[in-house]
Amino acid sequence: MLKGIAASEGIGIGKVMIVEEHSLEYQPKQVADTDAELKRFRDAVEAFCEETAEQAEAVKKSAGEKEAEILMGHIYMIKDPGMIGTMEAQITGGQCAEAALESICDMFIEAFSATGDEVTAQRAADVKDIKTAILSILLGVKTVKISEAPAGTVLVAREVTPSMTAGINKDNIVGIVTETGSQTSHSAILARALEIPAVLSVEGATSKLSSGEQIIVDGSEGIVVTAPSEDDVQLYSAKRDAFLREKRELENYRGKKTTDADGNEYELFCNIGTPKDAVKAMEADGEGVGLFRTEFLFMDRNALPTEDEQFEAYKQAALVLKGKGLIIRTLDIGGDKEIPYLGLEKEENPFMGYRAIRYCLGHRDLFKSQLKAILRASAFGDVRIMFPLITAVEELRAGKELVEEAKADLRASSIEFDENIKIGVMTETAASGVIAHLLAKEADFFSIGTNDLTGYTMAADRGNSDVAYLYSPFQPSVLMMIQRIIKCAREAEIPVGMCGEAAANPMMIPLLLSFGLTEFSVSAPSVLKVRKNIAKWTKAEADAVVEKVMAMATEAEVTEYLKSIV
Ligand code: PEP
Ligand code: MG
Repeated sequence: MLKGIAASEGIGIGKVMIVEEHSLEYQPKQVADTDAELKRFRDAVEAFCEETAEQAEAVKKSAGEKEAEILMGHIYMIKDPGMIGTMEAQITGGQCAEAALESICDMFIEAFSATGDEVTAQRAADVKDIKTAILSILLGVKTVKISEAPAGTVLVAREVTPSMTAGINKDNIVGIVTETGSQTSHSAILARALEIPAVLSVEGATSKLSSGEQIIVDGSEGIVVTAPSEDDVQLYSAKRDAFLREKRELENYRGKKTTDADGNEYELFCNIGTPKDAVKAMEADGEGVGLFRTEFLFMDRNALPTEDEQFEAYKQAALVLKGKGLIIRTLDIGGDKEIPYLGLEKEENPFMGYRAIRYCLGHRDLFKSQLKAILRASAFGDVRIMFPLITAVEELRAGKELVEEAKADLRASSIEFDENIKIGVMTETAASGVIAHLLAKEADFFSIGTNDLTGYTMAADRGNSDVAYLYSPFQPSVLMMIQRIIKCAREAEIPVGMCGEAAANPMMIPLLLSFGLTEFSVSAPSVLKVRKNIAKWTKAEADAVVEKVMAMATEAEVTEYLKSIV
């Protein structure tokens, strides 16, 4: 059995097809006829652009618009004067086309890889893809035709590049296994869009597996079963059928209201990270956005985004939502979210340090420009503001004061915004849980961030595997925090949501229904599943579960019990 990252759900059973990389070696040389060499290079780039545009068209049909954009992005990249212009200058200077292409691409790859952040690193993968494709054209190397793979093929490659994906026929490719990639890499995004089970980052996959052998890809668990027995095949076939059945069944929940078994209604929102995700949220049947992480606007660049740039992004999301709730969280940097150009000082203990609302209150210009951008977007929808990492009432007051200042500035410039914009608190620290009754008097809503709330309550870092046994939202202390936050919100008659990962956990759902949560905010692919899970419970049944769970002393007891009833 081989292990990797579970990148695209589902089970695939089929025969391996190894997609090998061809040697793209050449002898760098000086050329005398630079005009002819320039023409050879331009022809290759032109051929690349034509091929890529054709592939993008095919991908648009099979996977969708966003996936096609990844490929179109390659054309924009190579045509950027900073890239093609520098290559052409080198060729004019006497270098051969291959060497000019390679040296400039490598320079970009190195620069993009050096930043350490995942989004920029992805750009490096894009440039690598461009380099390989154009080098193949220049050297006349024919690449393997994935489009000709027979039915029941599992694609095994070092990396599935966007250009490879174009050839994938989803009726024939039943699984994907790669040696590189993460949950957010292109390979993962494309596999999910095509709904092909995928396991990524499987060490040595292309050498350990051979073409023609049968394997099972479990994209839900991140496992590749090699040399499966009859029993394995039977077991996984049953799992695959159950998975597909559930998927079809979930479609029955599309377009329905989110209600429990008594008919009480809840809001079922989505978490998003970009305006494009807002489209995904609506396609997934989300009823709004409960958390718009705005960090993306500040990452993958060298300077702060302007107020106008931010406004455009927030407005775009608001327009997609067509009047549905859009909760925009103000900048939540620091801790594990670094933004190199801000020059944040290295701290001994970044999770307890100068981050999120603390940093924003200390950088009023930066904060005010974000608040003004959000306020301006509020003229285009039901936009709400949420402050992250609140630990004290003063922070909420200071944030609200700055919102008032931002409003005054906009009024002075006769710019429209929602005068009654709602301002909420992300309750994700132990302190905010303890003073939830005080915060509830001054906030318009709460949203419980269980990812951090668990960490801060248990004093256990979510990324540290040595303390992972403590990091669970089912720890009695965390459950008491959640119960308390919801109770305080209900007493103050303000809405209370949950935007941490726990909101989608079937074991957490009965507890949240009984505690009195009013809004769930989950990832887009979880929407229908969560709606189905909410519909299962009557209030009385959920109350009975809570009575048992809140009397338990350990996390193990709680999870063992909850597993047995969901
Ligand atoms: C949380 O802390 O639960 C949360 C949703 O925010 P983030 O994961 O962005 O810290
Ligand atoms: Mg958080």
